[in-house]
Amino acid sequence: MPTTSKADYYELLGVSRKATAKDIRTAFRKLARKYHPDLNPGDKAAEEKFKQLQEAYDVLSDSKKRQMYDQQGFYSDSVPSGGYGGPEGTGDDVNFNFEGFDFGGGSGGGVGGGSFRDLFSSFFGGRGAGVQEEAETGADLEYRIEIDFWDAVRGAVKKIQITRMDSCQTCQGTGAVGTPQVCPTCHGSGTIQQAAGKMRFNVPCNRCGGTGKLRTACKTCGGEGRVRHNETIDVRIPAGVANGGRVRVPGKGNAGTMGATAGDLYLAVVVKPHEFFERRGNDLYAKIPVTVPEATLGAKIEVPTIDGRSLVRIPPGTNSGKTLRLKEKGVPSARNGERGDQYVEIQVVVPPPTDERVRNLMKELEEVAPADPRKDLFGKAGA
Ligand SMILES: [Zn+2]
Ligand SMILES: [Zn+2]
Repeated sequence: MPTTSKADYYELLGVSRKATAKDIRTAFRKLARKYHPDLNPGDKAAEEKFKQLQEAYDVLSDSKKRQMYDQQGFYSDSVPSGGYGGPEGTGDDVNFNFEGFDFGGGSGGGVGGGSFRDLFSSFFGGRGAGVQEEAETGADLEYRIEIDFWDAVRGAVKKIQITRMDSCQTCQGTGAVGTPQVCPTCHGSGTIQQAAGKMRFNVPCNRCGGTGKLRTACKTCGGEGRVRHNETIDVRIPAGVANGGRVRVPGKGNAGTMGATAGDLYLAVVVKPHEFFERRGNDLYAKIPVTVPEATLGAKIEVPTIDGRSLVRIPPGTNSGKTLRLKEKGVPSARNGERGDQYVEIQVVVPPPTDERVRNLMKELEEVAPADPRKDLFGKAGA
């Protein structure tokens, strides 16, 4: 049964065609509160409007039905549209049997059933919905932390002081204290009637914001349910973290509203440079001075690594600038623990020319092994 003469579902709910599921839910809840038959006893117009809203929500809250509606301009299924309780649009006493409401239209939709329950628990459950915002996950926070080379290599536990929004202890994050009072202006209905000529309108009650309840805002948090809080926390820095790396501390971002999950804390890691080791990725670079005899004759020398002293063989005839690789003597990867390498750059250090014997030895060297290391330079330079 194609439905004609029906208002556009999107228009009914006052949302755009691009509205998200959440937008639709929010719009529906707001309108349903206004036109709920219990709050408008005897008001046939409100009752009819409420049913239309139900129908619109039933379709638009179900992604499959919504898609069909968007394509065809209507939605129908085998379930009679009056399937939510009383006889449709007849009789004077339409019985809205809320307990028996199958809001999902039998389609097993998680959104439908759940939000319907929410809607009515917020009506009758005394939580005073409407004053409260929807539960929202807390925002993530980012802080900078500066650590030294060794903490980055070995990992460390660091204390850091942060300021975050924490759930208010006074009101347990609800933003309100005490038992909600029935709003005396609207007597708990959330709406009041206004007359314009012969017409009567139901408008949301200003005093209680349409919730029907008056709540005492928590003084500690001013009703927000969260308070700014300075905290010193211990943060575990994993071994191998690099300069510019990020460390996530779950749940230490801002608290969510209405008891929703907190965000995470992210630490932007700055690793201070080290005097001897230069780190590039997980590899380490270091310059090692050797003497002329060591470089000429070859030698076994000790060099510093992050594991302590390591024996390195300098091959005979090693020039300044030559780089030796010490396999897997680099930093362990923060991801999988695999170690980088250490590169050792040889720097030949000449003997002091102040000693006469040294000078004589050098003269003798010149005679024994005359060399012109620059002979090809001029050709190369083209000058
Ligand atoms: Zn009120
Ligand atoms: Zn509070």
